[in-house]
Amino acid sequence: MHELSLIASVFDILEEKAREHGVSRVTAVVLHVGRMSGVVPELLESAFDSYKKGTLAEGARLEIVIVPVKLRCPDCGGASVREDTDFSCAACGSRRVEIVEGREIVVEKIELETDGA
Ligand SMILES: [Zn+2]
Repeated sequence: MHELSLIASVFDILEEKAREHGVSRVTAVVLHVGRMSGVVPELLESAFDSYKKGTLAEGARLEIVIVPVKLRCPDCGGASVREDTDFSCAACGSRRVEIVEGREIVVEKIELETDGA
């Protein structure tokens, strides 16, 4: 499953960051998921929940922020942001647009908890 391997790599990042900061607990993770990433947020959440058991992020909360699709138009040079699936230029209506944002999956923020401090 696509979502599960994604979550596995998210956990690699979590573990690395926790080590870097010398902490043993992750309390929250914020993921930016592009609308065009092909990922189903619900599946991502359930993958996170099953993966986190027994890890340093066992009690962590996952927050998913859906990033809208950003298009660039080679015809008029305009940029548009699309919340829906209408992938045409908002300025001139051209369909030869280029997707510049909205395909990515990014670990935007990690909240860590230090022991006993
Ligand atoms: Zn245009």
